[in-house]
Amino acid sequence: MSNRIILPGATLGVLGSGQLGRMFSIAARQLGYRVHIYSPDSDSPAGQIGDVEVAAPYEDLDRVREFARGVRVVTFEFENVPSATSEAAAEIVPVRPDGRILHTTQHRLREKEYLSRNGFPVTPFRSVESLESLQKAVGELGLPAILKTATFGYDGKGQQRIARIEELPNAFEQLHGVEGILEACVDFEREISVVAARGLDGSFQGFPVFENAHEHHILDVTVAPAGIPPQLHREAMELARGILDSLRVVGLLTVELFVTRQGGLLVNELAPRTHNSGHLTMDACPTSQFEQQLRAVCGLPLGSAALRAPAAMANLLGDIWKLAGGVPNWAAALSDPSIKLHLYGKAVPRVGRKMGHLTATAATTAGAVAAVRAARDRLLLPY
Ligand code: AMP
Repeated sequence: MSNRIILPGATLGVLGSGQLGRMFSIAARQLGYRVHIYSPDSDSPAGQIGDVEVAAPYEDLDRVREFARGVRVVTFEFENVPSATSEAAAEIVPVRPDGRILHTTQHRLREKEYLSRNGFPVTPFRSVESLESLQKAVGELGLPAILKTATFGYDGKGQQRIARIEELPNAFEQLHGVEGILEACVDFEREISVVAARGLDGSFQGFPVFENAHEHHILDVTVAPAGIPPQLHREAMELARGILDSLRVVGLLTVELFVTRQGGLLVNELAPRTHNSGHLTMDACPTSQFEQQLRAVCGLPLGSAALRAPAAMANLLGDIWKLAGGVPNWAAALSDPSIKLHLYGKAVPRVGRKMGHLTATAATTAGAVAAVRAARDRLLLPY
């Protein structure tokens, strides 16, 4: 076992260079590792922290192999890298979680088929390859329904809600020839997520269940622990554990779930990586989700995922810069000493772009949410 451990001082490779890679790199550096980043971008959020930033296309497999030769293990923070990229890296070093998991989770249909085949509850779905198959699927699942592209979907990208039968031809056209998946529209009571890690030895650690509120399909505020009964909390955790075991994950994986009005659980989506809803772990748990990913992929024992105090996280999108008419009022947000500010080093604050987040801990979840929302509102005060 011990010779499989990748010890501090070693160099780790990350595919992808966004904020998840940045916060992973910060955790890795804290533990004395070196980090190399690979993505098509330069001066990226992760590249600003890593020791080496390789800016090259994911399709340049020779560059990927060369990158892999310089590191002990490859992990990723962006799951939409081509399968060939992780396979090329895996010729040289372990890729964790492995390419097989990436292949399953980067395609909504494959993912849902895998989950339902293995007995995990998912939103009712049908594959869509033609207008006829869309019409048939709507006949079976009913309306309203949600049509999604099977690939490259996140933050509601590539999604359309269909309410009326007349909308079908136009909705199908919007797929632009890409394979689609039609899902029944779930009238959920709330959305939750479980961020969990599985070690090389099969050990498991799940963070307390998070509750997520979205705005325009983008995560807005996360609260921990979720306001659900203890029994449902246990069920969500067992479900996540079952999925990580079934996929034999080494690393971290997030399960996004709907809680139905009947109190049941349905898996919406898997992400084989750290997750936006887990950002509050940096300020509210002994081990952050990024350190947990690092421990899992390096073969180290997993850390405590307990929550020190009720916590809330609010995303900071580029929209805030626009509303503030310039640089947001950071000092005003931080006037509450319980507030923590995280910024991702992105130069251009585009509308809808995740630029950073705020976290608050408090005696109650309601207190944490109120504090983090109030801090975000203060960003708009004049300096
Ligand atoms: P996704 O990109 O699949 O995670 O979807 C983003 C958000 O859209 C989810 O967090 C939900 O708020 C909403 N959504 C996605 N699929 C469904 C569905 N089948 N029923 C209801 N809401 C959905």
